[in-house]
Amino acid sequence: MWLSGKSSCEKSAINCDDMKTWFREFSFSSRERREIVDLTGQVLEAAGQSGIKNGLLVVQLPHATAALMLNENEEGLKQDILNKLDDLVPARGGYQHDRIDDNAHAHLKSALVGSSVVLPIVDGKVVRGTWQSFLAVEQDGPRRRRLAVFVMGE
Ligand code: ZN
Repeated sequence: MWLSGKSSCEKSAINCDDMKTWFREFSFSSRERREIVDLTGQVLEAAGQSGIKNGLLVVQLPHATAALMLNENEEGLKQDILNKLDDLVPARGGYQHDRIDDNAHAHLKSALVGSSVVLPIVDGKVVRGTWQSFLAVEQDGPRRRRLAVFVMGE
């Protein structure tokens, strides 16, 4: 069942001649080896700076040993997420990659969770749930990380 909808290109809801793209990267630092960093403020600010009122927001964490997810920024839940990832992928698992680098578990967690999120922007608002924060899941910190924000629309 559709909860709401809006047409594009047809009937001038969106003028496709005005389609544009916008891209920015910003950096942030993790402080722990394993940590969840809330980037919601920066992502929403970037989306607003794009000036695009209707389109797609693509948020990409360009790293192989961290992940990006949408979820609630609540202290207990953040610890639950970190603990569950450790349960699923223990740090010492006899991994092949640990023969050349000591962070196979971080790569595997990144592979499981993913590193990008795509959301609609409608009438100037990023469409997301009340408790859906943009959370970077650091697994090989502390280090400097980047986050890329791409917006396409009108
Ligand atoms: Zn590695």
